Amino acid sequence: MHDIPDVLPLSKAALFLDFDGTLVRMADRPDEVILEPRIRQAIAALHSSTGGALAIVSGRQLTEIDHFLSPLRLAVSGSHGAERRGANGERDTRSAAAIPDLVSDTLQGHAWTHDLLLERKSGATAIHFRSAPDLEAETRALADRLVADHDGLRVIHGHMVAEIAAADRDKGSALRAFMEEAPFMGQTPIAIGDDTTDEDAIRAAQDLGGIGVRIGEAETAARMRFVDIDRFHDWLLDAVDWNAFNFKRRPA
Ligand SMILES: [Mg+2]
Repeated sequence: MHDIPDVLPLSKAALFLDFDGTLVRMADRPDEVILEPRIRQAIAALHSSTGGALAIVSGRQLTEIDHFLSPLRLAVSGSHGAERRGANGERDTRSAAAIPDLVSDTLQGHAWTHDLLLERKSGATAIHFRSAPDLEAETRALADRLVADHDGLRVIHGHMVAEIAAADRDKGSALRAFMEEAPFMGQTPIAIGDDTTDEDAIRAAQDLGGIGVRIGEAETAARMRFVDIDRFHDWLLDAVDWNAFNFKRRPA
């Protein structure tokens, strides 16, 4: 175990930020989230202060992240590691395996039957049941069954969403790939997220001598935690003001 430094200058950090529930508050529908101007400004400042070593690591598609962050165009991993664009703007061409049509079509049928939202992404298919929480158990069981019946897939159970993705890509593999490239290489990785899928990135960051930060009260491997997004945002905005991350100040 590495000791957590009390203070890490931004110039030494590589920052890996989840999007939903981390940079923006959850909304009823994925397209209804709002990135506050002060958070967009903080991201731009952190991007600059880390020498460009800042990446968004999201379950969303890369193009969606670009849309929300516009006019910022950052290093991004989308679709839980299936898509990745480095700080130099180049796409990682080692594309993830496609989701079999039978799997996506079965989820589509379930979505149509129950009026749920289905998202077909590159490298993943997601079914959202936020509009019908009583269908949670049934929908999660269907996704589990489909993954059990097909090799090379995994199911990602998130907040009001079940997502099927390639088994060999996750947010941790994305973080490791970024850390092999400039300007991330040699920096101390900090991975921040609010969901179970972020644990892969949190563990990868800590394996590489960095720090994981978890938002929320769920069990986590992260060495630092904020109980809610507001406290995390306060800390992030303070980091911009101080030009450093303060790991000693750990708000309860
Ligand atoms: Mg999240």
